[in-house]
Amino acid sequence: MAHSLFVRFFALCTAIAALSIAVTAWLASQATTGSISQEQGEALATDATLYDQLLGYAADHRDWSGVADTARALAAGSGRRIALTTRDGVPLVDTGGPDAPPLPVRPKAIVDPLNVDQVLKPDAPADAVDPRAVGPFRLTPDEAERLRHLADAIADCTGVGVVLEPGGRPVLSPPIDPGPKYAVDCPAHSAKVLTAPTETEQAASRELRSLLLDCLNRVRPDARVDPRWTEPAVLRWWLRPPPPGTAPEVAGCLSGARRAQLAPHVAPPALLFLTAPTGVERPGVDLSSAGATRVALTGFAVLALAGFASWLVASRLVRPIRAVTAAARRMGAGDRFARVTGPARGEVGDLAGAFNAMSDRLAEAERQRQALVSDVAHELRTPLATVTGWLEAVQDGVATIDPQLLAILLSESHVLRTLVDDLHDLAQADAGALRLHPEPLDAAEVVEQVVAAHHADGVPLVARTSGRLELTADPVRLRQAVRNLVTNALRYTPPGGTVTVSGKREGSDVVIEVADTGTGIAPDDLPHVFDRFWRADKSRSRATGGSGLGLAITKYLVEAHGGTVEVTSTVGKGSTFRLRLPA
Ligand code: ADP
Repeated sequence: MAHSLFVRFFALCTAIAALSIAVTAWLASQATTGSISQEQGEALATDATLYDQLLGYAADHRDWSGVADTARALAAGSGRRIALTTRDGVPLVDTGGPDAPPLPVRPKAIVDPLNVDQVLKPDAPADAVDPRAVGPFRLTPDEAERLRHLADAIADCTGVGVVLEPGGRPVLSPPIDPGPKYAVDCPAHSAKVLTAPTETEQAASRELRSLLLDCLNRVRPDARVDPRWTEPAVLRWWLRPPPPGTAPEVAGCLSGARRAQLAPHVAPPALLFLTAPTGVERPGVDLSSAGATRVALTGFAVLALAGFASWLVASRLVRPIRAVTAAARRMGAGDRFARVTGPARGEVGDLAGAFNAMSDRLAEAERQRQALVSDVAHELRTPLATVTGWLEAVQDGVATIDPQLLAILLSESHVLRTLVDDLHDLAQADAGALRLHPEPLDAAEVVEQVVAAHHADGVPLVARTSGRLELTADPVRLRQAVRNLVTNALRYTPPGGTVTVSGKREGSDVVIEVADTGTGIAPDDLPHVFDRFWRADKSRSRATGGSGLGLAITKYLVEAHGGTVEVTSTVGKGSTFRLRLPA
């Protein structure tokens, strides 16, 4: 099975197809995954930007009443429909027109500056309070103006930068040590003055501090107020989340206090609904140039792999076929012993086997042809030599033509004619030109006729038949077959013996037996008696006029009638030839 050409072709094609499909699928999934994740990443980034912008608005406004312009600007920039509702579902703003895509059922996020979504804004502070929500810590314009002048002067003097915090407070960047150096170098503009809380900040810090202490008293009534809870310290904490190591309840109270303090100053939490991008061109599965190169390289690799596998398999498949072709060529060139060697299996192995069998048959036929020619030459030589010898003797005056010599010459020419007739019959049989003319006849009559036509001195020839033996056969050829058997029987039965020809019916067959009490045939010779030119005793049978072709012709004629011929024999006791013909 594994060596079947069909199976190997099938397996190869399937393997190549599977490989191609697998690689194509892999490439497609790679490209699609990349493109989808890119798209998703872009969508997520847009979501985060929108969320951040709205969060900034909420941190800076006490309510949502003026958000419409901001929302519309964001919607136009992102190609999204943006809607905000209160927690109870009351619409605050919706940028969608009449044919805008429907909003999703679930909100994208809750916009609450005191509770920032860590997913959409991963850089949010640990306490989730948006740093832009400053509430009562926002400096008055006068304070902001004053501090900015101060900061600019320090920046001029020291060369550091100035950054504005959300509440309007300027800070030095990088921060500098507000030590004596600057107090000396820039006496009027000490950095310490810059970092000192303003009145607004002090008021806000006091408020925050009392909220914090209220909370701490509630949570831990026994706890003494930490002396570090001074206003600037609280202010420092306010500006940054509590330092690591702060007791959890303190941290909890601080963030609670901050939320309580900021809540009236920021917009209440709102549900944000976003549609998928519209209006913006949706990128299809786009193969970047790197992707295209990868596809091309992979395709080339698959092609090379498939080509190599095909070449390997094809050359393995073709090798035995080439061997058969080479053997056929050798045979065509005259090498009668050309054979396919090598361990070919499967269909090609069958082909090689059939070729070798054909080659054997041709060699055998050739051998038979040569043997036949040599046999025929041999058979013709003896009678011709006899005739030529006598005629030369007469010509030389050594012998005279008398009736005795004439009889000898006649007998030899008779042998020659028999031989030629038999050869002609066999040649016709071999060419398929020996035509039968079957007709209904009585086999018993054929037996009687043949027996009546033969006669031998001292050997009684008996016909033994019972009633009519109807069958369809060619009467001339059937007589010829029986005659050959009877001639042989008389020839090989010495005087004193008998030859019996009997005809009988066996089932639907007609059986004609020619039995003699003659010399018999040795068991080793029995398989050869029907071969052409085969004789048990060459000189004797030739002397008695046998061509060595009689039994071969008989066998052919009987088989042409659809019958069989067989022989049983015992040396010294006699032989029985038995023809069986279908009625
Ligand atoms: P032939 O013309 O020599 O008889 P056949 O083909 O008729 O040729 O017979 C082949 C050989 O078979 C004979 O030479 C003979 O040796 C043997 N043979 C045939 N018939 C008999 C028989 N009835 N008894 C003994 N030998 C026989």
